[in-house]
Amino acid sequence: MRWSRTLITTLRDDPQEAEIPSHKLMVRAGLIRKLSGGLYTFMPLGLRALHKVARIVREEMDRAGAQEILMPALQPAELWERSGRLAAMGPGMFKLRDRAERLMALGPTHEEVVTELLGHEISSYRQLPCTVYQVQTKFRDEIRPRFGLMRSKEFIMKDAYSFDTSLEAADASYQAMYDAYVRIFARCGLLARAVEADTGDIGGKWSHEFMVLADSGEDGLVDCPACGYAANQERAERAAPAADAPACCPDREPVATPGVRTVDELATFFACPADRFIKTLVYLADGKPVAALVPGDRDLNEHKFKRLLGAKKLELADEATVQKVTGAPVGFAGPVGLAVPTYADPSLQGAADRITGANLADTHLRHVDLARDAAVTAFEDLVIVGPGDACPRCGQPLQLKRGIEVGHVFKLGTKYSEAFEAKYLNEKGQSELMVMGCYGIGVTRTLQAVVEQCHDADGIVWPVSVAPFAVTLLLLDPKDPAVCATVDALERDLQAAGIDVFVDDREERPGVKFKDADLIGCPIRVVVGAKGLAKGGVEVKLRTSKSADLIPPDQATDTIRTLIAGLTSAATR
Ligand code: ATP
Ligand code: MG
Repeated sequence: MRWSRTLITTLRDDPQEAEIPSHKLMVRAGLIRKLSGGLYTFMPLGLRALHKVARIVREEMDRAGAQEILMPALQPAELWERSGRLAAMGPGMFKLRDRAERLMALGPTHEEVVTELLGHEISSYRQLPCTVYQVQTKFRDEIRPRFGLMRSKEFIMKDAYSFDTSLEAADASYQAMYDAYVRIFARCGLLARAVEADTGDIGGKWSHEFMVLADSGEDGLVDCPACGYAANQERAERAAPAADAPACCPDREPVATPGVRTVDELATFFACPADRFIKTLVYLADGKPVAALVPGDRDLNEHKFKRLLGAKKLELADEATVQKVTGAPVGFAGPVGLAVPTYADPSLQGAADRITGANLADTHLRHVDLARDAAVTAFEDLVIVGPGDACPRCGQPLQLKRGIEVGHVFKLGTKYSEAFEAKYLNEKGQSELMVMGCYGIGVTRTLQAVVEQCHDADGIVWPVSVAPFAVTLLLLDPKDPAVCATVDALERDLQAAGIDVFVDDREERPGVKFKDADLIGCPIRVVVGAKGLAKGGVEVKLRTSKSADLIPPDQATDTIRTLIAGLTSAATR
């Protein structure tokens, strides 16, 4: 490919709306262009890199025994009613009506469509196990599309779905996908980490997310350097801290606290540390009031609380509900005399001499002994786990990191096969539900995650496996026939050796070409100029090294082939 005949424009300055390095670089290097918020066009170089990621994904899916299909992106909304997810997806799903006024949706994911499909196609245990996948555009009306391809309204996902005869067989299908994911991200040159994850709206019993470690990542993940436990912060647990030793506690006593509501305000008012308070949070779980108690210096993890309650919907109670349940305005709730199910974090076991709301306007209680003064329904792990908390597996201190979720694998069980009556006949001729799993990779997000992890101050540093081109060939003197002839011959040779090469043949100063080559970041740069040729060679340099080697033109292809083999084996080691 020749730059002069290609639609590639690089930018000197960062685009205004871009906040993270990969977004800035993808726009500056001319890989993507914004249409509007959360919508991007792939330009020629970006599309090449995207195709390479997708190819790796397909190769590993095929190797794992999955079969590629392609389902419609446009789906009847009626399918989503059958699974009960139409309401759950809410405004996150793009909906429209066809000319017969039938409600349709642009697929944010495909559990419904695939279960309906396989429910009809599969009739016997002989056809199982079966895993299908597709690489397809998905649509999600994200609340805050941002960071370029990281969180967009339209993106390319690889989604796979497994169908099995039993939970054990489904475990094997899950493991095959998990292993394929490990290979995919390694082949893309990414350092990715599998972490235990929440199952969210997709449902199901168990899941892992694949996270690319990056400071700009939207997800918090908890990591135990001692034993390898790793979990999304939404799901992370901690070993329960030792219960407080029994302490004698004076009788509880109301204290007037007009207008003092938050823990910070209370800490100042009572002149004591935040952990001496018990926060009482009133929620509505599927419309019914419940309370959660956590120490004043900790935050409630709503995901864990929702899972504990088995609720479909969990929301902080509105002011009127708080008033009704506690008899006081927001800010003065407490566990004493509270007549709704009340869950407390295990760190509050044995908690004595604490300060809580009094369920009375402008009043708190001091000297509260939780066991003596309140009725706790159960002690359950409720807080957001943070750095220094004890690992739930080995008790060592946990660390907190940030990550980008590039993939997600779920064990779904029979949630969808029940809704769609996706059954097969077993060996005895009896009808049984298929056991499912689902597995997603954000292909476009993965591409940008590569840039987020692989760049330096000058630009992108592509791993050879997904680089738009392996080699950038800089033609420094476009008017010099000898230089042009050398470039022509080298381009032909490299192509014949199966190596992708991109020739910068623009009428531009060498400085501009060097800067653009670094910005676009192909792994190998070859410079052909009159000066070099006079010294007997072309300059060959890795994007990652400072200095170039002068190689005779007729040996350049071999040298480059060896360099690529080195880069490839280093990536898969
Ligand atoms: P997130 O928590 O980031 O919103 P999700 O958990 O909703 O993602 P899944 O339903 O698990 O996403 O989708 C599978 C994969 O699709 C994700 O792991 C991610 O890589 C990708 N993905 C999801 N939403 C987007 C988006 N808005 N833009 C780009 N990629 C996305
Ligand atoms: Mg996910």
